[in-house]
Amino acid sequence: MLNIVLFGPPGSGKGTQSERLTGKYNLVHLSTGDIFRSNIKEETELGKLAQSYMSKGQLVPDSLTIDLLRSEVLKYENPKGFIFDGFPRTNAQAKALDDFLSSQNTSITLMLALEVGEDELKMRLLKRSEVSGRVDDADPAIIENRIRVYNNETAPVKDYYSQQGKFIPIDGIGAIDDITSRLFSAIDAKN
Ligand code: ADP
Repeated sequence: MLNIVLFGPPGSGKGTQSERLTGKYNLVHLSTGDIFRSNIKEETELGKLAQSYMSKGQLVPDSLTIDLLRSEVLKYENPKGFIFDGFPRTNAQAKALDDFLSSQNTSITLMLALEVGEDELKMRLLKRSEVSGRVDDADPAIIENRIRVYNNETAPVKDYYSQQGKFIPIDGIGAIDDITSRLFSAIDAKN
C-alpha cells in the first residue's frame, strides 16, 4: 500500500493537492476536517462536539479524532492506499496511526510537508473565506489561533516522521501544477 501523510499548516494547499494525488495514484482521500464538516452539516452528535472546537480554531480532542479516523479507514476493502489530510495533527495521533496501521499489516510510506510562510497563509485563508463559507477562515483572530496551534502542537509531528526517515519537505509556494509536480516526484522517488 501507498500511505501518505499530506502535512502542512492551515491554508497550505493540502485539500487541493490531495485531489490530484488521489487521481494519479488511485488512493482514498481521508480529510478529518472534511469529515467533521460533513458531520456538522448533518447535525450529528459528533458534528456538534467538533464544531465547538473548530469554531474557535482549536483541535478536536485526540481520542475522538483517532476513533473517527480508524473507523473511516476500516470502511474500505482492499484500498491501494490512503492520503491522510489534516491527520495526524499531534504526536499522540501519529503514534495511534502507526499502531493502528501496523494492526492492519501496513504503515505510513512517507510524510510530504507543504511549506508556506505565515503571511501567505493568512492571505490565502481570508481569500478562501469569501468562497468557502468556513467561519474559521473569516476571522483573523481565529486564523491566528489556528496557526498558533499548528506551530505548538502540529509542527512537532514532522520530527516524529523525520526520526523514521519518512519526512520530505515540499515548497508549497508557486503555481498549483508546479507544486503537484514536486509532490509526484517525491512519491515516485520513494515508491
Ligand atoms: P485547515 O488545514 O485549513 O485548518 P482542516 O479542514 O484540515 O483545515 O481542519 C479544520 C479544523 O478541523 C481544524 O482547525 C480542527 O479544529 C479540526 N481538525 C481537523 N483535523 C483534526 C485533527 N486531526 N485533530 C484535531 N482537530 C482536527
